[in-house]
Amino acid sequence: MRNVLIVAAHPDDEILGVGGTVRVLADAGVVVRALILAEGQTSRTEKREDTPPDVIIRLRENAAVAAEIMGFASIDFCDFPDNRMDGVDLLDIIKAVSQYIEKYSPDTIFTHHHGDLNIDHRRVCEAVLTACRPAGKDTVRRIYAFETPSSTEWNYTYENSFRPNVYVDISEVIDAKTRGMECYESERTEFPHPRSGEALRALAQYRGSNSGMEYAEGFMLLREILEIERLRDLYPMGRIGGGIKPWADTGSHCRVLAA
Ligand SMILES: [Zn+2]
Repeated sequence: MRNVLIVAAHPDDEILGVGGTVRVLADAGVVVRALILAEGQTSRTEKREDTPPDVIIRLRENAAVAAEIMGFASIDFCDFPDNRMDGVDLLDIIKAVSQYIEKYSPDTIFTHHHGDLNIDHRRVCEAVLTACRPAGKDTVRRIYAFETPSSTEWNYTYENSFRPNVYVDISEVIDAKTRGMECYESERTEFPHPRSGEALRALAQYRGSNSGMEYAEGFMLLREILEIERLRDLYPMGRIGGGIKPWADTGSHCRVLAA
């Protein structure tokens, strides 16, 4: 994992879902970028155009400050309508995501969980999966879904529930995560709201307790493509195939795995 793209619907989702992991990866020298697809806030007025432009500008300024704290290499914004992405052609969202995948060539993407209550989150996940169809040319090897407090846990449908199977230790950066969220003047909330600092710490503690760590973020691995080099890293020569044949002599990946 060297080049990561976070694809989120709204400003603040990139902190809520994956902020701690971003800080950990950035500290390890990984390039992490954010792509925010919807403008945020405009669903809070009767009509989208009733939201003053300076509200969006301020939100993006907040996002830039938060991005600095979290260690993002860059943050890009699109202008899809807030909480109205079900009214946009899915193809247009896919094209936007594809454009940034082409621009940045990420090997790993973190995005929303498909079972979230928020319609924009669901559309973004669908667009990412479509944009990352493994057609041979794409660079994306791993796709993870993150949970977004105040959306993921509020969709009470069992079949779409969020069940993490990957955990990242964020014990050393939990304060940075809550500080990042504090940057969002219009989005920060008081406890017991799920986006409050206390609730974010509590969720991280719970995910930590799920995984033997103090504080953690949990993810669902949606897809991973393991190339031969990656398999060599995971399973040093001699371990796969019982050490019968060196990698160079096996001819094909399938023979190695079946040996
Ligand atoms: Zn959101």
